[in-house]
Amino acid sequence: MAFNNVEPYDNGTYLVRSLKQPSVCHMVDMNEYDGFGECSCEWFVCNMAPKLKKGIKPFRVCRHLKAVKGYIRLQQCRHH
Ligand SMILES: [Zn+2]
Repeated sequence: MAFNNVEPYDNGTYLVRSLKQPSVCHMVDMNEYDGFGECSCEWFVCNMAPKLKKGIKPFRVCRHLKAVKGYIRLQQCRHH
């Protein structure tokens, strides 16, 4: 399964486990930035957050956010 490293946490937040370091977990909050989502990883904090704060949608999205979006899409397919 492609998205089994994503765990729903609480009210729009998800935990994404690192594939390389299973002990490392990133928190993704899909309520942030008008539903664009926020991640706790270094890539997001350094490269994406500054753009989002200026209202720019970053071209490159971190792996965690992508994984959560894929996971959500998968859940919606199952429920409809
Ligand atoms: Zn991330």
